Amino acid sequence: MSSTPAPSRTPARVSGRIGGISESATMAVDAKAKAPRAAGRPVIGFGAGEPDFPTPPAVVTAAKAACADPRNHRYTPAGGLPQLRQAVADKTARDSGYRVTSNQVLITNGGKQAVYQAFATLTDPGDEVLLPAPYWTTYPEAVALAGGSPVVVRTDETSGFLPTVQALEAARTEATKALLWCSPSNPSGAVAPPELVAEVGRWAVEHGTWVITDEIYEHLVYDGVRAESMPVVVPELADTCVVLNGVAKTYAMTGWRVGWMIGPTDVIAAAGNLQSHLSSNVANVSQCAALEAVSGPLDAVAEMRTAFDRRRRAIVELLAAIPGVSCPMPSGAFYAYPCVRDLLGRRIRGQRPRTSLELAALILDEAEVAVVPGEAFGTPGYFRLSYALGDDDLHTGVQRMGTLLAEAS
Ligand code: PMP
Repeated sequence: MSSTPAPSRTPARVSGRIGGISESATMAVDAKAKAPRAAGRPVIGFGAGEPDFPTPPAVVTAAKAACADPRNHRYTPAGGLPQLRQAVADKTARDSGYRVTSNQVLITNGGKQAVYQAFATLTDPGDEVLLPAPYWTTYPEAVALAGGSPVVVRTDETSGFLPTVQALEAARTEATKALLWCSPSNPSGAVAPPELVAEVGRWAVEHGTWVITDEIYEHLVYDGVRAESMPVVVPELADTCVVLNGVAKTYAMTGWRVGWMIGPTDVIAAAGNLQSHLSSNVANVSQCAALEAVSGPLDAVAEMRTAFDRRRRAIVELLAAIPGVSCPMPSGAFYAYPCVRDLLGRRIRGQRPRTSLELAALILDEAEVAVVPGEAFGTPGYFRLSYALGDDDLHTGVQRMGTLLAEAS
């Protein structure tokens, strides 16, 4: 008897796990802004999340010297130069008051690798990670890639884009493993007040929920606001907390690719094992540059903060003056997060954009201004504008966008 062969399954060319990842929307907008600019079209980009300042000269000098020394042409330990791990521990105690040892620090290829490795190290398939929205676009992808499930907890401007403990508790289940916390926030610029940090930290301890706290914008705070580190405010959290950080924003070092994760020694050792197979050490010369940066003064970030503060006030004023746009004043990072919902469905240049994604595309085409739509951050109806660009471009760009949007009927 001949049996019918089972229908053959054509294996997918790309795995489901990787095929399911979307391109980073913020990087895509940045590329969209840069491509026409290269072709001579004057696109102004509010997409990129990077300071427009050069890396401080002392850091560049240290990197040049490191380059000339053949010892730095070799691998370092996968987890980073021992002296850099120590310097990061010292810097953390200096800046946030969190006291850790060097074996609690893992040097990663930018904060982004620290984000990925934190989720990969903590989550098993089925584990849920609470993710307050608007969230930085990489978090849900990194959670999913690690096998976890992101559970979005939406916030809006009425709560200053900050989640309440009640909302977190309502989203918590038996499967909740961790909470992602980012203050100052990308994209909203919100900075959680100390009382909220304390309340959330105590809630996490009570329920055994891990907290992954991203402190990459710790020094970019305005109006005398301070960004508090959750495990400092709630010391009992230390054993179930991972802190993420890096040199990118504080020292205008986005291209050098140095970040770190800080956590309990067992978690850091496990993440180090992962990294030893994934990428090994961060470029040795970059680590020497980062050593100079974190061991040195905070003068450069103080100067950047002054410029960002000026631009923050300017951009909020310009945006708020556009009919249909409302923009709260952010207290941290370098992003404005205006609501554009009132403009959706209105007629502009013969089109009727119904989503912030469509409106952003129209603005790029018609006003040659690139903004990132809120869809990228889990909250449609908003735009993210980075104000880490020159004052002239900032004024021209928002004015150009405003002139177009004033046509809405
Ligand atoms: N965390 C947040 C919240 C960020 O905005 C960024 C950069 N956009 C990073 C981490 C990662 O920064 P990097 O990889 O450049 O160090």
